[in-house]
Amino acid sequence: MSDDGAPSSPSGDHPLRVAVVGAGPAGIYAADALTRQDAVPVAVDLIDRLPTPYGLVRHGIAPDHPKMRAIRDTLHHTLEHPRVRFVGNVEVGVDIPLEKLRAHVDAVVYTYGAALDRHLGIDGEELPGSLAATEFVAWYCGHPDADRERVEAALAGVRNVVVVGVGNVALDVARVLARTADELEPTEMPQHVLDALAATPVEQITVIGRRGPAQATFTTQELRELGELAGATVLVDPADLVLDPDSEERAAADRVVSRNLAVLRNWVTHTREPGRTRLTLRFYRRPVRLLGVDRVTGVEVERTAVDGDGRAMGTGELEELPADLVVRSVGYRGLPLPGLPVDERSGTVPHHAGRVLRGGQPSPGEYVAGWIKRGPSGVVGHNKHDARESVASLLADAAEGRLAVRGPVGDLVQELIRRGADPVLLDDWRAIDAAEKALGATRGRARTTLHERESLMAAIRAAAARA
Ligand code: NAP
Repeated sequence: MSDDGAPSSPSGDHPLRVAVVGAGPAGIYAADALTRQDAVPVAVDLIDRLPTPYGLVRHGIAPDHPKMRAIRDTLHHTLEHPRVRFVGNVEVGVDIPLEKLRAHVDAVVYTYGAALDRHLGIDGEELPGSLAATEFVAWYCGHPDADRERVEAALAGVRNVVVVGVGNVALDVARVLARTADELEPTEMPQHVLDALAATPVEQITVIGRRGPAQATFTTQELRELGELAGATVLVDPADLVLDPDSEERAAADRVVSRNLAVLRNWVTHTREPGRTRLTLRFYRRPVRLLGVDRVTGVEVERTAVDGDGRAMGTGELEELPADLVVRSVGYRGLPLPGLPVDERSGTVPHHAGRVLRGGQPSPGEYVAGWIKRGPSGVVGHNKHDARESVASLLADAAEGRLAVRGPVGDLVQELIRRGADPVLLDDWRAIDAAEKALGATRGRARTTLHERESLMAAIRAAAARA
């Protein structure tokens, strides 16, 4: 509606105002799709609760994978687009209620990801020395919300690690723990993370899968990389690679599975080598409980077999694996945003072709993309197609008059400031970026991540004081 109450159409002077909630890859791809079309003039506010953009590209992709992290150089172009405004350090539901945000824009695209960890639901899970992979990854990537004290206490003096799960995150965790200090030295990890990892004398890392190698969700490149570590030897029990007929069939039909098996079979001849970390992959073992009184001392696992439907079935045969650190890497789940429906079971927002469903019906002006739409799966690039589908639904709704286009209602950033928020805009992010590069350069690195929210905000203030 315009000021006089009549419906208005987006125009060059009064573009369709879209808020994208979450400036990770899905949000940036949504902003990109919105600005790559001429049919509907748009202005996009790309909101993030952190003062920094890029989501899991910054705080999820392992820092020892610099080529993968370089995708942010491409994502950066969208942040620079004149029709896109980065609005960081703003938490929807805290700094502004969702209904107020919705009243301020013509459409919202939720792309805030899946930040919570899934639980095993077994005894001992909460003991000190038991970490969720989400916590550990957040810490080594320098996420401002990471609990440094908790993770560093869990790591102190650790020799034996068990990683639960055989997805790519589990391999990231195992690989980072197995890396030598020299291998990690050039990465973007905060210095205190590098120091803590260098001081952790890990001797044995055991990665356990509750099903067989044919059901593991890791990908071949990530698996192969474990065999290229400077200070670790990968060990695999040949008995774990003997497949039942259904798994054989699966391996024959799926190239990733057959390649994974070929990599694993190459490792069965490996033996322990003195002075090197042992990185053991064990399959058909599910955790039953974490052992220990004041802190974790081990994991009790049950041998399993895979049934005809590919499910893990317990055999009743128990075994204890020693561990002074357990990292549970069993997937992520989405957290509910106050006022937005979330399916409890899947941790995703119910939708149809990206249109948010409320009470089973599309809610005009509300869309969803990325992990909060489809669940925590796939690589960064999958978000592009996913975001395009949701944006196509948004643009179709705009073209067909299904959105309540309101005309001018005032600037969102001014409204956020009026509400006491401290929005971080693109120039502020540029100041953080420059400060991280300068900090990295002091040790010959391309960048060192600033970890604390206070350090990020201080970099902005310092740049403003210099200007
Ligand atoms: P994931 O691939 O879904 O792996 C989760 C693992 O946890 C599976 O092995 C699963 O086993 C296991 N699991 C779940 N519940 C369990 C339980 N109760 N007990 C024991 N094990 C349990 O998820 P992810 O590793 O968190 O990765 C998330 C997404 O990010 C994936 O799409 C991944 O490929 C992507 N990613 C990619 C990269 C990369 O490209 N380098 C790096 C990191 C992440 P079951 O299969 O038996 O359920």
